[in-house]
Amino acid sequence: MLIVKKFGGTSVANKERILNVCRRCAEEYQKGNDVVVVLSAMGKMTDELIEMAKNINPNPSKREMDMLLTTGEQTSVALAAMAFATLGIPAVSLNAFQVSMHTTSAYSNARLKRIDTERIRHELDQRKIVLVTGFQGINKYGDYTTLGRGGSDTTAVALAAALKADACEIYTDVDGVYTADPRVVKKARKMEEITYDEMLDLATLGAGVLHNRSVELAKKYGVQLVVRSSLTNEEGTVVKEVVKVERMLVSGVACDKNCAKISVIGLSDKPGSAFRLFDALAQANINVDMILQSVGRDNTQDIAFTVTGDNADDAIHVIEESKKRLGYQKLELEKGVAKVSVVGAGMMSNPGVAAKMFECLYNSNINIKMISTSEIRVTVLIDEKEVERAMNAAHEIFGLDEA
Ligand code: ADP
Ligand code: ASP
Ligand code: MG
Repeated sequence: MLIVKKFGGTSVANKERILNVCRRCAEEYQKGNDVVVVLSAMGKMTDELIEMAKNINPNPSKREMDMLLTTGEQTSVALAAMAFATLGIPAVSLNAFQVSMHTTSAYSNARLKRIDTERIRHELDQRKIVLVTGFQGINKYGDYTTLGRGGSDTTAVALAAALKADACEIYTDVDGVYTADPRVVKKARKMEEITYDEMLDLATLGAGVLHNRSVELAKKYGVQLVVRSSLTNEEGTVVKEVVKVERMLVSGVACDKNCAKISVIGLSDKPGSAFRLFDALAQANINVDMILQSVGRDNTQDIAFTVTGDNADDAIHVIEESKKRLGYQKLELEKGVAKVSVVGAGMMSNPGVAAKMFECLYNSNINIKMISTSEIRVTVLIDEKEVERAMNAAHEIFGLDEA
């Protein structure tokens, strides 16, 4: 069997944890299996590197940021290879160059395009455990890129697909995927299984337990994932195509605090206003999420929308620069907002989910700033300070609380 195992930051945070990872992998290796291990940077190292960068230059270039951040994962794999040596197990560490993990050129948010498997296969044939840096790739300019925060999950799934692995296991600091972040909702329940689609929605809407692109790739290439704890032997959650349990109305609740709301007030109420605004943002590569257009009055209208928190200042800059062309009266930026979403394939055939969500927020006296829905989710934008209460209320009203 060929097994890809990925360990996140907390799982390799110090010497003991690294040795723990090595022991777990060694067990698999000693059964005669081929083992490929993807590691994240140790503990909070990525955050610390970002802090160091901002300290020297508040506006660092994305290329240099990636050059810096990729050192985190490189540290982990090299140390782990040294740790394996102390256990008498042959291992080799490889970074994105040595493997050749090709990505698009977008620094800080690159997508994997192709992975060469030759070098990894060669090392496996020598009966070595192969340690691969997560989160990083190389682009056509021969530079390092990174895959976005949490991207090591995607490295693992992409490797599992490229190597046609028999299993792909994501080890983290919780023992599976829960109906909501167990750190926020104490009564959250661990799921035995979840479909790719539901997991993709939860991940996209903020459930950081898996990088959303990793789920996308897993679905595309049919890689069955297991999410489990690196510190216990609990079973974990299987992410796959179909699940045996009956569909609940709502399968999970997620939140995303990395949001900002921008209101463009007093745009002229005629064809083309929305196009010009969102085209300007698209040209600047800024993704817009929720959108709200007000009823027009006195030949003007307002448009409010959300972007990710990191894009807020850029978005404001772009709109201010295009003020003449857009012709609005006022621009407002609201930070400190968050999205709370309920997700579930079951709601497709059940009206009233949105109403129920609004009811529980009303009962908790939480004001809704924006709403967006799809067939299988309801999302509201609220004050960031209310997130915990909103998540718990939604979790309870949809019957997800642990008995
Ligand atoms: P790693 O460093 O191992 O990749 P992450 O911090 O990226 O770990 O992801 C694990 C964290 O995801 C958990 O500690 C938990 O707080 C959070 N999380 C958010 N939503 C969920 C969920 N639905 N189920 C489990 N964990 C969740
Ligand atoms: N080290 C990176 C991060 O903190 C990638 C990862 O952990 O998956 O975002
Ligand atoms: Mg992660």
